[in-house]
Amino acid sequence: MALGIDVGGSKILAAVVEDGRITREWSYKTKDGEVIQTLKSIIRESGESVVGIGVPCYIRDGICVKAPHIKELTGRELKDIVMDARYMNDCSAIAYGEYYLRDEKYDPLLLVALGTGVGAGLVVRGMPYVGRGSALEIGHIKKYSERRCECGKTGCLETVIGGRYAGTKDMYLRAKDRDEDALKFFESYGKTLAYGLAPAIQLFDPEIVVIGGSISQAYDYFIPSFLAELEELLSYITPDDIIFERAKSLKSGTIGAALIAERGLI
Ligand SMILES: [Zn+2]
Repeated sequence: MALGIDVGGSKILAAVVEDGRITREWSYKTKDGEVIQTLKSIIRESGESVVGIGVPCYIRDGICVKAPHIKELTGRELKDIVMDARYMNDCSAIAYGEYYLRDEKYDPLLLVALGTGVGAGLVVRGMPYVGRGSALEIGHIKKYSERRCECGKTGCLETVIGGRYAGTKDMYLRAKDRDEDALKFFESYGKTLAYGLAPAIQLFDPEIVVIGGSISQAYDYFIPSFLAELEELLSYITPDDIIFERAKSLKSGTIGAALIAERGLI
């Protein structure tokens, strides 16, 4: 039994996970300046001693080097925030949760989270792959545009497919009404996503690619052009040989964080 917390840009979700099932849960709005206080109060209330926390941070050697959306965490040594918790990049937690929710069957599993920002996580041989803290910062691979990114540099993938820049929310609602411009928008979105993901697929040769994050609700609108473009961009590997799925749950980050902590994987 463990507590898993997923600190997102807009929501903090937490859950006590027992035998892989959620038995209690919490949800709070993310307010920069009050995040640490919220984490402490959830942990106190849960009474759990095994705690995993996924944070939207670029982590290096246990330090949250940069958290563009949560300034409060930037520069902090993570283990000083709440003692005895295990910290990980939020996408590593989501990837592991999605791996678990598929009965740990598909490996390697590559997860891409398309939300306000764009991140990714990888599970290889049953372990989250995190590099030295935050591997797979796929949203900051360049040169996809001339736009300035929150990371401080220009041209990141996130600046063309991240919700903050792409206006995807409005487009999703229009696509549901079969608005032609919106359908074209997602056709082009799928192609750009293929350009972003093809290098990761070629590098990691995943058995499954899971697409999560708020923009994944438009999955059906962008997946056909995504797969068609991917066919052109990959060599030796064909998309037919890979499973593509939407994320199974919005809570997979809490489940993954709890299990990673309980199993001592990070
Ligand atoms: Zn960037």
